[in-house]
Amino acid sequence: MIKNYKHIIWDWNGTILNDVDLCVELINELLKEHNLKTVTKDEYKSIFTIPVKNYYAALGFDFEKESFEVVGKKWMDGYEQRKFECKVYPGVVEVMEKIKNLGIGQSILSAYSQHTLDEMSAHFGLTKYFSHIVGLDNIYAASKLHLGQQLIKKLGNGKGETLMIGDTEHDFEVAAEMGADCVLLSGGHYDKKRLEKLGVTVLDSIRGLL
Ligand SMILES: [Mg+2]
Repeated sequence: MIKNYKHIIWDWNGTILNDVDLCVELINELLKEHNLKTVTKDEYKSIFTIPVKNYYAALGFDFEKESFEVVGKKWMDGYEQRKFECKVYPGVVEVMEKIKNLGIGQSILSAYSQHTLDEMSAHFGLTKYFSHIVGLDNIYAASKLHLGQQLIKKLGNGKGETLMIGDTEHDFEVAAEMGADCVLLSGGHYDKKRLEKLGVTVLDSIRGLL
């Protein structure tokens, strides 16, 4: 199936980088600090969403008491300190290598901050696979739709020539807006049932793509 595409666009968090456990730990620290109920990993995967502000609200954070900017910054400070504890999912490099050998282009499109994205893809030795690494200029993970639209314009690809690989409903929505096909992975920040409801191909492992 991969062979039919000119370009593959990868999401970063929960698709390339397995940061799910770290995200659960960090949000639970914040929830405890705010005397709110903590979540299990399964609960997290049933609640997490982008824009992340909506997910914080669903967990019970009251932005009247403390702004989302303050809470979100606290979370991100913790993430920045510990982000290198995370690993790339098994099979990811193998799949990137295979796509490269097929002569198909690859990019990253993420709602994560550009600076950290550049730093981390270099850390894991992945930069060489990508023609474009596109992230947000801030830490608040609102939407990457506008970035996706800019990227697809740069690539000059028509409908069905691009495949987006992601792990959230937001990836699915962005792919649809870009005229890209979409495959979602259940090992990331959304549970499988939520992804299957979208009516797209859902894989348990990136290796399933080959
Ligand atoms: Mg993701």
